[in-house]
Amino acid sequence: MAITPATLSQTDDGTPYALVYDDVYHSRAGAIAQARHVFLGGNQIPARWANRDSFVIVETGFGLGLNFLTTWATWLAQTDDERCKRLHFVSVEKHPLLKADLIRLLEPYKSELAAHTIAALVEHWPELVEGTHRLEFEQGQVILTLIFGDAETALPQLAARADAIYLDGFSPAKNPDIWSERVCQALARLSGEGTTLATWSVNGALRRRLTACGFELTLTPGFAQKREMLCGRFKERRPHPNPSMTPGHALIIGAGLAGTATAERLAARGWRCTILEANTLACGASGNKAGVIRPQPSADDNLLARLTRAGCFSTLARLERLKISGNPVDWDACGVLHLAKDADQASLMQRTVAQLKAPTELLDWVSKSQASELAGLPVAAGGWWFSLGGWVNPSDYCQQLLKASGATFIENARVSSLAHDAHGWLAHDDKGALLARGDVVVLANATAIPTLAAPFSDALPIRPARGQTTVYAAPPGPAPKTVVCRSGYWTPSIRGESTSGASFIVDDTDLTIRPREHADNLAMLAGISPDAAAALPASDDMLLQGKVGLRPVVPDRLPLVGQVPSRQPAERSSLSRAARARVPGLYVNSGYGARGILLASLCAELLASQIAGEPLPLPKDLVRAIDPMRYAHKKTSIEETHHEN
Ligand SMILES: Cc1cc2nc3c(=O)[nH]c(=O)nc-3n(C[C@H](O)[C@H](O)[C@H](O)COP(=O)(O)OP(=O)(O)OC[C@H]3O[C@@H](n4cnc5c(N)ncnc54)[C@H](O)[C@@H]3O)c2cc1C
Repeated sequence: MAITPATLSQTDDGTPYALVYDDVYHSRAGAIAQARHVFLGGNQIPARWANRDSFVIVETGFGLGLNFLTTWATWLAQTDDERCKRLHFVSVEKHPLLKADLIRLLEPYKSELAAHTIAALVEHWPELVEGTHRLEFEQGQVILTLIFGDAETALPQLAARADAIYLDGFSPAKNPDIWSERVCQALARLSGEGTTLATWSVNGALRRRLTACGFELTLTPGFAQKREMLCGRFKERRPHPNPSMTPGHALIIGAGLAGTATAERLAARGWRCTILEANTLACGASGNKAGVIRPQPSADDNLLARLTRAGCFSTLARLERLKISGNPVDWDACGVLHLAKDADQASLMQRTVAQLKAPTELLDWVSKSQASELAGLPVAAGGWWFSLGGWVNPSDYCQQLLKASGATFIENARVSSLAHDAHGWLAHDDKGALLARGDVVVLANATAIPTLAAPFSDALPIRPARGQTTVYAAPPGPAPKTVVCRSGYWTPSIRGESTSGASFIVDDTDLTIRPREHADNLAMLAGISPDAAAALPASDDMLLQGKVGLRPVVPDRLPLVGQVPSRQPAERSSLSRAARARVPGLYVNSGYGARGILLASLCAELLASQIAGEPLPLPKDLVRAIDPMRYAHKKTSIEETHHEN
């Protein structure tokens, strides 16, 4: 999970120099002039991005980010008519710079490049952990997807179609890995008709590899003292792995976190959205007063750990962007403590911290006394400390996402059936009256999805998991200063109330408040802080409040995000997994289970990227792990009653 940052030096003339590769970061004759000549010029940028909805550049080796910043500056200097609507820049970097080094090294470029672009890049520079980090600039029109990791393993995991490739990196002699056959093959897989590449290197072995992978190469005049550079064009026609749809009208069913987040992300890509909601905004599982955002680490950095980490970064970024766009969400980065259940778990948690070597802001171990200090009340054990985490008011999150999306919102509009004709999708109510029509439909109606999408429900095994929160006045009741979790969660006092929870009972759809579950929630709090137990309200206190919600859960506890698989099992069995068809224009975004607040932003960004044919914000293995296709031929069950978020 941890990555090794770049260790830097400088040559006599001040050119930044990477000690690990014993090589300079860019031409001594000037990084920006080199970027313009080699990478933009070699790919005929900006001419090629004119009038495009989106244009995708893939780069090997982010370094100081000067190729990106120069490309961004070029985009900025053009009018809307001259440039693409959305510029995607995807770059893979094995040894990213420490933020302090980035600030120092970019300082001299502030006059040459727009100062605000450097400031924005520095401000949003991600935590140095392995994985895909998506950063948005210029109101989301310039999107940087930074993949921290080894190009040889990260590029084959990238799902994108490149329009242009910047083949950069330290020289093939100093860092052969980034020019390897595997990297060239991965770049070819990201290419299609019209994809171009450019690089300053004319290395013979590299040319042979690129040619073997399908690129037609030409030598053109190089930059500064270099006589030649290399330009390439991909020769083969290949179907786009994720063809884009022209932005149109999306019908979104359900106005919880899944529906409102989807609308906001699709609207950012030029889609007009209509949300059809059976009742009112955030009336379902998304209607609590507060829930928790924090990753779920594991010593082996498994799928869930990587997904929840990406979800955490995505949510934090979305909350910030919503604030900047005038839609501030009620939330607080107060930090989250996750206390160990017992001594065995404590040592596992400590081992996990030691093994992952994550930045301490993301994950740290704190002793019982440190945890008590952070929580502001005596707690029962030490545990993990997520200083970036906090609580979010999910119903306000829905409200702000809805506002930001500009979607048409139709309340009290229960969709009873869906139909498809030559013009798109139609949503009808229980009397058969047309509620709305659209080019695509996104199923975001949680536990009601299997009924509404009955012909396809074998791939959508969503079941309800009842959860009840307990809310009491604090003060007089006790409340921690941070969120504290231990088989449940306990929030600080938020405008005089603390929220805790929650029960987790699969297939229980009763929505009434149960004193028994209040008692369980309060017992969970007493387990967090036995000293505070006496000050907690009694479980039969008439002033106790709470809410019951039905979480949409799937057997493997991962979300369901993507285009809906189309066929029934019998027909599917003879087809290969890849060849199985999906229903045109029908998508699902659900199955968040106990992590909807954490995952809604990421899942919506993924789905919108899929619909728009843009680079995906997650590596392929995570995309596959949450693809509804995984259930197209599988039957499993969940039977659980316990405590969760
Ligand atoms: C008690 C509890 C505590 C939780 N704590 C946390 C936490 O701490 N952290 C975290 O990350 N997550 C937490 N979660 C999980 C999170 O709240 C859910 O995963 C998330 O709210 C699910 O969002 P959704 O939009 O999929 O579903 P919902 O919010 O249920 O939205 C679905 C919407 O679809 C509508 N609908 C249904 N059928 C139709 C139809 N036919 N036509 C039109 N509309 C329809 C419903 O009325 C509803 O508004 C918690 C959940 C619960 C219940």
